[in-house]
Amino acid sequence: MPDDVVTMDKIVSLCKRRGIIFPASEIYGGIANTYDYGHYGVLLKRNVVDAWWQAMIGDRDDIVALDSAIIQHPRTWEASGHLAGFTDPLVDCRTCGQRFRADHLDAEHDVRCPRKPSVLPGQGPDCNLTEAREFNLMFETTIGPVQEAGSTVYLRPETAQGIFLDFKTVLGFARRKPPFGIAQVGKSFRNEITPGNFIFRTLEFEQMEMEFFVPPDDAHRWYLHWLEARMDWYERLGIRGDHLRLRAHEQDELSHYSSATSDVEYLYPIGWQELEGIANRGNFDLTQHAQHSGEKLEYFDQQSGERYVPHVIEPAAGVGRATLALLCDAYDEDEIGGEARTVLKLHPQMAPVKVAVLPLVRKDGQPELAHEVRNLLRRRMQTEYDEGGSIGRRYRRQDEIGTPWCVTIDHQSLEDRTVTVRDRDTLTQDRVAIDELPDVLAGKLEAPWISPKLVVED
Ligand code: ATP
Repeated sequence: MPDDVVTMDKIVSLCKRRGIIFPASEIYGGIANTYDYGHYGVLLKRNVVDAWWQAMIGDRDDIVALDSAIIQHPRTWEASGHLAGFTDPLVDCRTCGQRFRADHLDAEHDVRCPRKPSVLPGQGPDCNLTEAREFNLMFETTIGPVQEAGSTVYLRPETAQGIFLDFKTVLGFARRKPPFGIAQVGKSFRNEITPGNFIFRTLEFEQMEMEFFVPPDDAHRWYLHWLEARMDWYERLGIRGDHLRLRAHEQDELSHYSSATSDVEYLYPIGWQELEGIANRGNFDLTQHAQHSGEKLEYFDQQSGERYVPHVIEPAAGVGRATLALLCDAYDEDEIGGEARTVLKLHPQMAPVKVAVLPLVRKDGQPELAHEVRNLLRRRMQTEYDEGGSIGRRYRRQDEIGTPWCVTIDHQSLEDRTVTVRDRDTLTQDRVAIDELPDVLAGKLEAPWISPKLVVED
């Protein structure tokens, strides 16, 4: 997109400048591929997760929620195949000591040797790569005070397995029959060694995963249903349709148990990359856990007398990758009155702060009235009060974090109890009565929305 001004460096620097997302453990020099979310980052991420729960359990009746443990019985990972097969092929360079993924040494991945000249690993005169070795991505730890005597356990590399382990329990109390789903959001952990591209690839990350259990004959139909539903969800977050695509996995990319997988991809500044994977997993997981645990993991239909192991359709999304896509999609630069402005044109429902209340001056009763207005709004939507600096600077600060509306209290407000509402995208300022303000803003928040960047592009 030649007219898109966004780059990953700009996103990283805006996030750091405004405390949205920044490197973890910074006072110790940081730690690879690990980030912390500050105030606005937490609010933005929470909006993503809330929108996902809304789509899973708010808008439908056939999915229930779960929050399973991060550390599960170690046999879980034997059964799921992660212990034997959740590996990346790695090579080490004997000269520079750097470690690379053997399948990322090509120009497409553009991973560079840290020494000069900056070449692909293995292509420099001094490069000396080892043979590829398989490296398991699971973090290992020990239960018990003494490492030798304790038992080895793993931090979950995906949330999905906890869902399969609880399938029978949930089936028992949820009073559901296939087709039905179990959804959960939580942290997963992977010992990733490739450079991360900010929060795109991190060691710990939140996943939003849902396992949808269906009668075997209906699996393909439900797979198609979830492809469409998940694409729609990203568009509803306000992400531009021309920056989203579905990419079906080639036969040789498919996991051995999957009959079909597609990725929802977003056109990040680093190119098309996976946002979410949607897989038809067949009955692999339930069958594996049934074999390893000795428990029957199947569904018995009392009406038809039919007994079967449900097949599973899994949409598996990353909170960080969705947050990053929102930031990239919203980032824009323009000029107001000859001054450069950085603005996040986020969908209002995704914006960390919906409305900022700003007294024009810090006297004459304006701050007091501004606090009153703020209190009127705060139960309805995320609100912020700011009286520091010129009004232009305050608008700019809100633009940078994507606040869709600024409410300004001026001397007229004290006379007639009206305020101005400034729109982040159109820059229009409308006068609204304070009494009507909560409903006016709530109406704007619910109104249909498309990215202003899309409107300009057209
Ligand atoms: P990739 O090929 O990019 O490593 P994956 O195919 O291994 O991803 P899945 O196992 O399908 O990823 O996980 C589902 C989702 O979890 C991904 O689409 C992504 O949004 C998120 N995810 C996976 N690994 C990471 C990570 N290391 N950091 C951030 N998000 C991740």
